[in-house]
Amino acid sequence: MRLRANEYPKESARVIREEPHVRESVTGATLNFDAKRRAAYAEVDSEQWRHFAEAVKNHVLMNLEHYLEQAEAALERSGVRVHWAEDAEAAQRIVAALVREKGVKRAVKAKTMLSEELDINPLLESLGVKVLETDLGEYIIQLLEQPPSHIVGPAIHLNLEQIRRLFHERFGTPLDAAPDALAAAARKLLRQGFLEADLGISGANFVVAETGTLVLIENEGNIRLSTSTPRLHVALVGIEKLLPRFSDLSVFLSLTARAATGQRLGTYVSLIQGPRRPDETDGPEEVHVVFVDNGRSSVLADDEAWETLRCVRCAACLNACPVYRQTGGHAYGYVYSGPIGAVLSPGLVGLENTKPLPYASSLCGACFQACPVRIPIPKLLLTWRHRAVEEGLTPRFERTALKGYALAMTQPWAYRLASKALRLLPKKALDNTVVPVLKAWVEGRAGLQPSPRSFRELWEEGID
Ligand code: SF4
Repeated sequence: MRLRANEYPKESARVIREEPHVRESVTGATLNFDAKRRAAYAEVDSEQWRHFAEAVKNHVLMNLEHYLEQAEAALERSGVRVHWAEDAEAAQRIVAALVREKGVKRAVKAKTMLSEELDINPLLESLGVKVLETDLGEYIIQLLEQPPSHIVGPAIHLNLEQIRRLFHERFGTPLDAAPDALAAAARKLLRQGFLEADLGISGANFVVAETGTLVLIENEGNIRLSTSTPRLHVALVGIEKLLPRFSDLSVFLSLTARAATGQRLGTYVSLIQGPRRPDETDGPEEVHVVFVDNGRSSVLADDEAWETLRCVRCAACLNACPVYRQTGGHAYGYVYSGPIGAVLSPGLVGLENTKPLPYASSLCGACFQACPVRIPIPKLLLTWRHRAVEEGLTPRFERTALKGYALAMTQPWAYRLASKALRLLPKKALDNTVVPVLKAWVEGRAGLQPSPRSFRELWEEGID
């Protein structure tokens, strides 16, 4: 798990300055996703669907204990072994025990953000297991040893040229290979991986409490292969991922696909109802579900932050966010980036570790408009900002500057004095060499240049 969230301001400035292709790739991909999402919402009464989805998720969260018990009983009736992990260490212990007990040597992974949160890949590698990411985007960033930069499109920060070069170096494909040829090269290697794996690791989009059904949505078919070909399937599931009834899926499947990629439905929807039965030829011998808390209970107990747990990880808020589009996800320094990352990460790993993230927003509200479960992200951003101030986590300079700003904006004499003083500063004074506190600001931007005359003076003289 990366946790460099406190470096967000510097890291985002560095990405903008040193990696301009990231902005280009991410902006192009997110604008495309967002346009498709808007068109897909326009086909249905999306407002009504969103209100329904919000109400269902609220009901689950308000009755979480009941639905978790119901889900556990239904899963076990289907022959699934259920485990409970209070934190990342507990989840790792469960996975490690299964790996040792079942003699796992090779694992295939279907894209799961929770496994990133829990550091499952390093764990498996430390146990001598060969791990293969099977989502194409995840596979690409695994080759590059990078974390995902987007919940749905983990490699959207890369452009086609970079992927061509990578595949040329690794697999000898031509430097001008078409995207189809690149996908075919990856598919050939991944196929062998599916056949050789003992363990398939997945997440779950939803678990239906009523029936104990694991629900996975995808477009590549790799999730279905990862969960059905190896003899062992382990699903890592956040405790908030429940739906009460099977009938709820009719809205959630379509709404999630529309929000994520603008599709009416994901290309593949897997409904997993336990391991292979004696009369079946396909499927794993064992299915294990690990329900993971890892900070979610404390978010649920937080009167002001609990609504973040409605999230279905569709990434629509990332695609709609003008701030995320500038840098992509790596600058956020934690698994979850963009608007949802800015409000979820402080709840999961502490505001003291993530305090700049709630400021990574213009508060334009586009994230709320896009969100299929109506999470009030702008309100939550303000809540975390307010807490950062209350807890004294903002820099001393910022607190002093804001006190001075408040004085200047409420006392005309102080305003006049401050604007005169600023204009009297030598030109270089606002440069990073003279005022070090402005270094992070001016690093990626032009230096500040005060006007020689104040607005008030210009106004009194008459502005055209
Ligand atoms: S906050 Fe809403 S829009 Fe963002 S990932 Fe979660 S469900 Fe999707």
